Amino acid sequence: MITMKFGGTSLGDTRRLADVVTIVKTHISTKPAIVASAMSGITDTLLETARLSVQRETEKVKNNFEAMKEKHFNVADTLIKDSARREELIDRQSAIFDELASLLRGVSLLKELSPRSLDAIASFGEILSCLQIAAILNDSGIPAEFIDTRKVIRTDARFGEAVVDFSVTDTRIREILLPLIDRSIVPVITGFIGSTETGLTTTLGRSGSDYTGSIVGAATGSAEIWIWTDVDGVMTADPRYVKGARVLSAISYREAAEMSYFGAKVIHPKTMLPAIEHDIPIRIKNTFNPTHPGTLISSSAPETKQIVKNVTSIDHLSLVAIEGNGMLGVPGVSARIFTTLARIKVNVMMISQASSEHNVCIVIPQKDSENAVDALQSEFKTDISAKNIDAVKLQTEVSIIAIVGERMKGTRGIAGKTFSALAQAGVNVVAIAQGSSELNISLVVEQEDAPKAVQAIHDAFQEL
Ligand code: ADP
Ligand code: ASP
Ligand code: MG
Repeated sequence: MITMKFGGTSLGDTRRLADVVTIVKTHISTKPAIVASAMSGITDTLLETARLSVQRETEKVKNNFEAMKEKHFNVADTLIKDSARREELIDRQSAIFDELASLLRGVSLLKELSPRSLDAIASFGEILSCLQIAAILNDSGIPAEFIDTRKVIRTDARFGEAVVDFSVTDTRIREILLPLIDRSIVPVITGFIGSTETGLTTTLGRSGSDYTGSIVGAATGSAEIWIWTDVDGVMTADPRYVKGARVLSAISYREAAEMSYFGAKVIHPKTMLPAIEHDIPIRIKNTFNPTHPGTLISSSAPETKQIVKNVTSIDHLSLVAIEGNGMLGVPGVSARIFTTLARIKVNVMMISQASSEHNVCIVIPQKDSENAVDALQSEFKTDISAKNIDAVKLQTEVSIIAIVGERMKGTRGIAGKTFSALAQAGVNVVAIAQGSSELNISLVVEQEDAPKAVQAIHDAFQEL
């Protein structure tokens, strides 16, 4: 069997949904299991509507709510020919919209929107989307069944970025999905969502449906996991921003994980983990161009002459610097930085330390800057008053640029070529990562220089 995940971009309107049906029909002999996201834009609208409800922006809430309803009901009206089936879907979706309205009223009354409520509200997108895909498939003569992963994927209670409990989840996936697949019924499984032991709704993080796809693919022992999206595969850079970006025919799991960690949005970074464990190839394919072979992600990407495979950037970051002439005498500076930031749950994305040990720089999400600086100032208060350490410095609006390729480690001159490309493009490098993994080089630039930096590096490695 094959597990196929369809992203929001493949489910955006009635034409795309009709294409999805054709794709499932074409591959029906593979006994597919379908994992699907919300229709494109719906998760953003749900989260925005939740915030507007707390602010009691009644008119805007109503507009968003009606627009979401209209978008889904239009799909039922346009794509479902059998009137009884169409009515049944609209009834189920109406009941779900009523439930959503109650939740939105609740957060508005309480004037409180916790991560827990946000997850409950965000989950509606996948539920509405998968209910309609199952109905459309049934209407097209493909037996299908809606599967709500809140009954399948068990997580902890870290709302917004919940951690999966595989011992419960894998067993349930096998118990619930395999009998359906045996009977040639296509399960249509909600991506992105799960639930805690006590039944609270959780989400696996934004873009988390890719991860659901590989969790399902691994637990069911699928031959391959296919991620259907709106580009021909993983490309050398984000095609929306970089001229000349090309599709890569094959990359390794490690390369894919590294690229996605550093911002290649085409696949969620956690997707590779279950696939690696069970050695299941992942294929990225284009719903808009289904005959294209796409990109194969597997344990052994074939040798290509291409050394640098990808250039990415992540924006909205801050650089926090701790420096001072007396730092050599201050014990355990790095350990204290990490412990302090871990305590306030700030994710350190990159670290760089000058060899003189007079300076440690860390890169963190910009939204956490203020908290991080406050916590570090208080941790190093005594060292700052003793003048061993200067005040903690903050630079906002920076980006990490990363270049990724498995064979970079054995190739000379990659760093040299990168830095001369940046110098020629007039980009100032703010910091360089230390001890970054052997398959990537990452550095920090001012955010306004990031597009220029990515393009310049991409152009420099064009011939590889
Ligand atoms: P989906 O809704 O299918 O999950 P996403 O929007 O999450 O789709 O991911 C697909 C998008 O990722 C593409 O449209 C593309 O703009 C963007 N992207 C960013 N980096 C890359 C890359 N290296 N290769 C391909 N696409 C990329
Ligand atoms: N719908 C969710 C999101 O927009 C999950 C996904 O699309 O993968 O983040
Ligand atoms: Mg995605």
